[in-house]
Amino acid sequence: MLSIAGLRKAYGPVTALDGADLEVATGTLAAVLGPSGCGKTTLLRCVAGFERVHSGTISLAGRTVAGPGTHAPPHRRGVAVVPQEGALFPHLSVAGNVGYGLDRAARRSGRVEEVLALVGLPGYGDRMPHQLSGGQQQRVAVARALAPRPPLVLLDEPFSALDAGLRGDLRRDVRQALRADGATAVLVTHDQGEALSMADQVAVMRDGRIVQSGAPSAVYREPASPWVARFVGEAVLLPATVDGPVAVTPLGRLPLNGTSNGSAVTVLLRPEQMRVATGGAGATARVVRHDFHGHDALVLLQLGDGTEVTARILDSTPPVAVGDEVTVSVHGPARAFPAL
Ligand code: ATP
Repeated sequence: MLSIAGLRKAYGPVTALDGADLEVATGTLAAVLGPSGCGKTTLLRCVAGFERVHSGTISLAGRTVAGPGTHAPPHRRGVAVVPQEGALFPHLSVAGNVGYGLDRAARRSGRVEEVLALVGLPGYGDRMPHQLSGGQQQRVAVARALAPRPPLVLLDEPFSALDAGLRGDLRRDVRQALRADGATAVLVTHDQGEALSMADQVAVMRDGRIVQSGAPSAVYREPASPWVARFVGEAVLLPATVDGPVAVTPLGRLPLNGTSNGSAVTVLLRPEQMRVATGGAGATARVVRHDFHGHDALVLLQLGDGTEVTARILDSTPPVAVGDEVTVSVHGPARAFPAL
């Protein structure tokens, strides 16, 4: 449905997009995930038609809408945008807002009530925007985006202005609404939890380029680089040498996932691969930090040689405290990258 190839865009001396590529299949919810300033909003604005691209192409449903000599205006692309906040016309009712882009036949067909029900607000049509909470206003904004069945829905950090407590439900409900309506959508976010939990496809962006795109589990388990590994989650990166199918690391000999050339490598482990025990097999370590998160804790462990590794331990494992001596062993394979 959406195909972006070699997209470049600069604002004066600032390169915002530096050869971005992205493919999003029909019915997919893709998240573009990257740090502040990496070009996410610029990418979204180029797709919507608010910005002209310098080079590269954007195709929507097989039609080139931006490219050399081509710039379809926003209204000809029909892409719907859900901004961070403030999307609604304050003087129109909820139904008026949702039905705004619809012709009379579509309004009569019950589409407004249908999409309000999809976003969890059935019967809210007569309310005014100021009578809604921030979260409800964002639901209405999503309903309005979906109403005309656009080829593509773009969501620009749509939950960032909301309380953390509200975001979880809203993420689930919006994902469900997009799915139920068969929409194709691109969500821009710098929140890795949001991207991994909501999207079918996560495209990781850095310095104006998409550096990896794939299923959330693939991006998390098989990151293309140590940078991606760190950006999408907690990462333990250790120096190692390769000895056939294993890496020799400060945590012992670990089976390797994937091949690697060269003997000096950096291996990636995730904190949840660590088994922490008092006594038993494994490398000896001391607990130097303990961050409690409720259902689990992240503990920083210092090995005998000074190397520090992070382990995720569940509440059910024997409690450990700063200063304790423990043993740490690894389960599951390590992933090797060229030495950092
Ligand atoms: P954030 O998550 O902070 O919104 P982003 O990933 O969306 O960041 P963009 O807003 O796309 O990033 O910005 C990419 C780069 O382009 C940044 O260096 C930004 O300062 C610059 N930039 C964006 N818009 C303009 C503009 N209108 N004029 C000049 N520079 C701009």
